[in-house]
Amino acid sequence: MATIFTKIIQGEIPCYKIAENSTHIAFLDINPIAAGHTLVVPKEEIDYLFDLSDSLLADSMFFAKQVALAIDKTLKPIRTGLIVEGLEVPHAHIHLVPIYDERQNVSLRNKVEISKEKMAELAETISAEVKL
Ligand code: 5GP
Repeated sequence: MATIFTKIIQGEIPCYKIAENSTHIAFLDINPIAAGHTLVVPKEEIDYLFDLSDSLLADSMFFAKQVALAIDKTLKPIRTGLIVEGLEVPHAHIHLVPIYDERQNVSLRNKVEISKEKMAELAETISAEVKL
């Protein structure tokens, strides 16, 4: 069965899209732990990040870097952190988490409330600055 991320990639489920090319997509996490929390997802449906081919893993990191730089430029966190867990969705992905405060709890279990309007605004702002 297709993963929820494959359904997003195929346009069956909506997302707040940040960037896309032929091999990757980035969109806002629907249950964010910080404003601008973004998922970078290779389109190929592979569960474990370290099962990706070397070149696809390298491309994933490049894609993540470009999105992180756009987050840094637009949202101005101290820096953008990176988390890989993959315990919920069996489709490899990288969490990009803007860190606004040194004491910020960056655990994936520390969800924050962000309105749909704000999510749409964040996606529009970040996506305008992504340079792939
Ligand atoms: P992990 O698999 O790394 O533990 O976490 C999966 C992440 O995917 C979670 O942070 C969760 O909020 C996010 N997520 C799960 N389903 C959806 C969805 O349908 N849309 C979006 N944008 N994010 C999702």
